[in-house]
Amino acid sequence: MTAVLTAADPAAVAQLLGAIDERDYWLRRLLSAERRAYELGHQAGYREGRRDEGDDRDAQWHSLADPLARRAADGVDLTRRRWRVRGEEREREDFGRPHPGDRPVRTPRPSGPVWLGGPPVHYHGCSAACYAFRPGPYSPAEAAAILATLPGHYAEEIASLRARASRERAVS
Ligand SMILES: [Zn+2]
Repeated sequence: MTAVLTAADPAAVAQLLGAIDERDYWLRRLLSAERRAYELGHQAGYREGRRDEGDDRDAQWHSLADPLARRAADGVDLTRRRWRVRGEEREREDFGRPHPGDRPVRTPRPSGPVWLGGPPVHYHGCSAACYAFRPGPYSPAEAAAILATLPGHYAEEIASLRARASRERAVS
């Protein structure tokens, strides 16, 4: 049972005020100690967490890299794989030799038709000749004949198309 203190008793009031001061003092000390302890724990946690993470990362790195490093140590495996062509073991010297699995080199074929665009792609003032042919595919000889009727400067293209037409006649 606690003693009942009254304001009329100055000694009791002084005792009460002293008790309050002492309680505040201990409360401040406790809070300060808690803050310090929290700060120490926080720093220690970060330090240990970082160390553990570094250890984990090193362990994972070594689990991947060590087997490769061991195989590479003699250099044989990597060198062999470096010069392998479509599964065939080769050396540096014969690496560039043709392989049966290589894609065949295409022999040039006579080229296909020539596409002539209509007035929308002409860069000259169009005449009736431009509207007299339909845009589309033509043989080189036909294309040269059509170009010869147009108002633009097509001498080079016409010569090239005529040469191509005569080459294709020679092939067939
Ligand atoms: Zn035109």
